[in-house]
Amino acid sequence: MNNRDKQRNLIIISAVLLLTIGIANYINYYAPPKPIGKILSFSSLSEKEQQQLFEKAKKENNNIETNIQEDENSVSKVDVSESELKQDNYLNYAIDSNGKLVRWNKKKITVFVSESEYKNTIYKALSTYNSTFEKYFTFYLAKDRENSDIKIDVVNHFSSNDNKDSIYMAGITNNSFSGSDKHLTNSHIQILSKKPNSNKKITDSEVYRVVLHELGHALGIIGHSPNNNDVMFASESVNKLSLRDIATIKLMYSGNQSLIKSETKNFADTKLKEAEDYAKKSPNKAISWVNLGRVYYDLGKKEDALGAYKKALAIEPKNPLIYQSMAECYYSSLKYDVAIKYYNIALENISTDEQKAPIYNMIGMCYAKQDKFENAYQYFKQAYEIDSNNRMLLKNYLVACVELDKKQEAITAINNYKSKFPDILNEDFVKDVIKWAK
Ligand SMILES: [Zn+2]
Repeated sequence: MNNRDKQRNLIIISAVLLLTIGIANYINYYAPPKPIGKILSFSSLSEKEQQQLFEKAKKENNNIETNIQEDENSVSKVDVSESELKQDNYLNYAIDSNGKLVRWNKKKITVFVSESEYKNTIYKALSTYNSTFEKYFTFYLAKDRENSDIKIDVVNHFSSNDNKDSIYMAGITNNSFSGSDKHLTNSHIQILSKKPNSNKKITDSEVYRVVLHELGHALGIIGHSPNNNDVMFASESVNKLSLRDIATIKLMYSGNQSLIKSETKNFADTKLKEAEDYAKKSPNKAISWVNLGRVYYDLGKKEDALGAYKKALAIEPKNPLIYQSMAECYYSSLKYDVAIKYYNIALENISTDEQKAPIYNMIGMCYAKQDKFENAYQYFKQAYEIDSNNRMLLKNYLVACVELDKKQEAITAINNYKSKFPDILNEDFVKDVIKWAK
């Protein structure tokens, strides 16, 4: 294969893909207790409701496999009238700072709820969503944690690393997404079992409210509603989905692109203001500055982004996410050597291989962009060895093999991958590599 342009092309495409694979952190500020009378009290899910939910899950779970192959069209268009969608909403706050929707690209979303005394309350929140958004998507209970889309845990402490001083938080949602359409691939909700700042147990109605809120994030609402009558308000949120909450989520899942576009015309101003306000309100939280940096970055303001990231570093000098974000700025400014430096510092502060793989890949990218394929090869190979089901990592590894004339190695890698995912042989690039290796 002599077509170097093709390889160049491939590298660039891969980079774009990688940058869209990320973990987003969403924070729900803990709401100070409301006056007693305002707290909705309810018993846990009735026997009947519980049974219905389980029956539904059981019936439908037979159709649910790890990789549900759904017809994309069944998701992209929901048959509803414009008037149902054209309601007051806060879609500008829900989308990301590129102006893109982050959401599930399927209608069946599986949820695993770990054991806790709040399980029924969590089911109740899930069924509230199900009855409200019936036409748009449905939550199904998953029996198997690993194969579920959304995981919900009630915990004593958050597992994420940026919450050491999180006296204000009741719940956190970590979302993973991928692809240029930014579809969600995984979401993890954690609910604190105790009220921050005290040892008091959280009540059922508080769990209900927090789960309602976090589920909004798990569905892809990136920011918060500016209106305190909405579940997605950042603090003191209400315990009932408002018309604006409902309209926003319906729009997100409607697939009505023209309406979504017109409703998000002014997203850039909104996102920037939201991130700036957030940083002003919580200047001692690194995540505030990381978020602000991310918005600047997305709006093409790389210098401002670096400034925000440096403020985050002053608070958490060992947070690898910050170094990665800075590296990303340098990478996209074509300053590859500086990017490599920051990626390496991120690596020093990361312990799991799983988190290292995307960084190895990016270091490989930095070298590949400079035509240093000996170095690129080392990193692409390491990344692929850690995450050997990842097609993009395989391709980058193959690119380096081709550049360095490692024919046998390329074929071995393809064969290994093929044994798991035979459809890899349909890809033109892989066909070309095989032809070249013969
Ligand atoms: Zn939130």
